[in-house]
Amino acid sequence: MLEKQEEIRKEFEKDISSIKNSNDLNELKVKYLGKKGIITELTKNMQELSVEERKELGRVSNELKTTLAEEISKLENELKDKELNEKLASEKIDITMPSTKINVGGLHPLTKITDELEELFISMGYDVVSGPEVEIDKYNFEMLNLPKDHPARDAQDSFYITDEELLRTQTSAVQVRSMLKNQEKKPFKIVCPGKTYRRDADDATHSHQFMQMEGLVVGENITLADLKGTLEEMARKMFGQERNVRFRPSFFPFTEPSYEVDVSCMKCGGSGCNVCKGTGWIEILGSGMVHPNVLEGCGFDTNKYTGFAFGVGIERIAMLKYGITDIRDFYTNDLRFLKNYNRVEGGDK
Ligand SMILES: [Zn+2]
Repeated sequence: MLEKQEEIRKEFEKDISSIKNSNDLNELKVKYLGKKGIITELTKNMQELSVEERKELGRVSNELKTTLAEEISKLENELKDKELNEKLASEKIDITMPSTKINVGGLHPLTKITDELEELFISMGYDVVSGPEVEIDKYNFEMLNLPKDHPARDAQDSFYITDEELLRTQTSAVQVRSMLKNQEKKPFKIVCPGKTYRRDADDATHSHQFMQMEGLVVGENITLADLKGTLEEMARKMFGQERNVRFRPSFFPFTEPSYEVDVSCMKCGGSGCNVCKGTGWIEILGSGMVHPNVLEGCGFDTNKYTGFAFGVGIERIAMLKYGITDIRDFYTNDLRFLKNYNRVEGGDK
């Protein structure tokens, strides 16, 4: 009987010496220690033996089984280490490989201009306020000195929802709301950026939806000089420190006197070019001293308080600043267009 074990042992040593990988070792394990393996077979026909013989056979077979299991386990660990090392060596990370392209969103050019303007006015002590896009006639027109029969409120220009409600045609409506709410705060300084709507046919320079930012200051001794200084700051922040502004008399129902404001051309510096149509100046906004009717309507004592207001088109600023020639590009959401304005912030590089 012991001879048989010795034979198995020798065969095992021979088999194990030729093992090269984990798969081979698994096969070896099954061959010797499996349910139908050699060791199990060895103790199968024990009923023919005497009790003593059975004990002896059992003991020797168990010893053999333990020995083989130990050797297999030892080799198993060695092979695992070896295979892991081989894997690590073969799977070195190639840091020169190009990475997966990640598309990162960026800010819309109109958002960027709005942010820049807000930042400037906040630094000058203004509050940023917003109001509803569906506005009542009273705030959008009437209290801005545009009574019902006024020619400037031609129904063709507005999207009316009911007789008294419309999509706001100007962010000036927010001024009225804010003035009515903040009687105590003096000087009263706000900017209101937001979307506005007019029944314009869309073309390269007109859009039925566009963005405005309204500015309003009400307080004691507020003069035209304050307005001019403020708008100079804005023009220089948006278009460069060398910019100058000039005021041209104009007419708006809610301001008196009213002015169109021009900025010296950012392309030619004032000598005349195609952008400024040879004049050296570019119109950027409308402004003026708040009309006494508007101040009185909002409850301000016009003997004591004056104010200035201005309204700037965000698209107009963005078009001038970025050299965009078609206002519709802001609203068609063409990524090829939008990506041009996000190279720095982490858009598609
Ligand atoms: Zn020019």
